[in-house]
Amino acid sequence: MDNDGNSGLDDVHLWPMRYDLHSHSKASDGHYTPEELVALAQKKGVEVLALTDHDTSAGVSQAVAAGRKLRMHVVSGIELSCLWHGNQIHIVGLSINCGSPELQALEKSQAEKRDARAREIGMRLEKHGFKDAYENTKAMAAPGASITRGNYSSYLFKVGAGPTEEYCFSHYLDKGKPAYVAPVWPDLETIVKTVLAAGGIPVLAHPSRYQLNNNWVLRLVRDFKNCGGEAMEVSSAMQSFSERELLTKIANKHELLCSCGSDFHHEKTNLDLGIDLSIPEGGTPVWKSPKFRLEC
Ligand code: AMP
Ligand code: MN
Ligand code: MN
Ligand code: MN
Repeated sequence: MDNDGNSGLDDVHLWPMRYDLHSHSKASDGHYTPEELVALAQKKGVEVLALTDHDTSAGVSQAVAAGRKLRMHVVSGIELSCLWHGNQIHIVGLSINCGSPELQALEKSQAEKRDARAREIGMRLEKHGFKDAYENTKAMAAPGASITRGNYSSYLFKVGAGPTEEYCFSHYLDKGKPAYVAPVWPDLETIVKTVLAAGGIPVLAHPSRYQLNNNWVLRLVRDFKNCGGEAMEVSSAMQSFSERELLTKIANKHELLCSCGSDFHHEKTNLDLGIDLSIPEGGTPVWKSPKFRLEC
């Protein structure tokens, strides 16, 4: 102990912090404003939260302001959509510089694509009796929000199209269903390179949720790494411990850092804030990256 009685322990975390590095706000298809989300995460025991809205970083500044006020750590983030061999793949960018011209240009073109697709989904739903589906879905979202099929499933549920949002999604919005509109996202390399240009850490999101068999998951991880990918999510909500261990082994094999995130949108799903998202032993957490930065 120092002579002045200061043990220096203030700067040392004696127990692991609770990181949740994947979450959504009303800037896309989450149900809470960035401020409400940060407050809720704190209430649920999260210590470091990344806001990663679909194809937009518009909510980050509000989340950071809320983090400063509530003394909660916030990481800037985004979840970008791309196409890889016809599959919709999500790449999370962590510790991004939101003002990056490359990222801003991509956000603008993704927003245009999302709006065109949302209008088309709306027209298809109209044909199934949901009058003004596009306008009503937009009205439920925050002004300027990035509209996803998640927003549409919330709208369909609200107007009584089914007993749960999941039901509405799988009956109307999923591939092969009446209001499915194939997206036209950029390729994997374009997205990874844009995250890198913004100084961020490209993270392959929820690798087990793409309905790919093991060989294709390995192919995806390899391609992602070859494009410049730096981390992958090994720990998500609703995932078994053995699956987390397997993903950690895959991450190690490809020299990728390990990330964890709930993918929280709202409390009506099982993807909840504050659950145990610890990274299995042997994995190197993404927060060890020299690029990982807390905004507050
Ligand atoms: P999009 O990026 O427009 O294709 O929409 C993807 C979003 O739809 C996801 O981020 C989720 O919020 C939502 N979603 C995906 N699968 C389901 C599901 N089975 N039930 C409800 N919402 C879903
Ligand atoms: Mn979503
Ligand atoms: Mn996703
Ligand atoms: Mn997500």
